[in-house]
Amino acid sequence: MKVTDDDTRELFDRVRELWGRAGMFGQAQEECGELIVALSHLRRGRVGAEDEVILEVADVLIMATQLRQQMGTEDIDHAVKWKLRRLGDRVGREEIRRASGLPPRGDDGR
Ligand SMILES: [Mg+2]
Repeated sequence: MKVTDDDTRELFDRVRELWGRAGMFGQAQEECGELIVALSHLRRGRVGAEDEVILEVADVLIMATQLRQQMGTEDIDHAVKWKLRRLGDRVGREEIRRASGLPPRGDDGR
C-alpha cells in the first residue's frame, strides 16, 4: 500500500490539533532516535533487530510525511529531487572511479 497525502492529511491535521507543532517536532526527534538505536542493534547482529528496524522506519516515514505536509510539500519534494539528483551524480562518479581502478571512497552516504 502506498500512503498518499489524501490518506494522511486529515489524520495529521487531527494530530496537530491535539499535540501542536512542537509536539510533532518532538515526536519526530524521538522516532529518529529510535531508528538510530534499531540500526545499531542491526549492525551488532541482535536477534529481532530487522523487525525493530522495519517498525522504526515506519515510524520515521510517518513523521517525515507529517513534517512534509507541515513544512510544505512543494519545498520538500523539490529538495528530495535535488538530493536524489546529487546522489545519482555521486554514484556515477564513484562507479567511474572504481572502474578506473582507484580505491573506493567512503560510503557514509552523504
Ligand atoms: Mg518508534
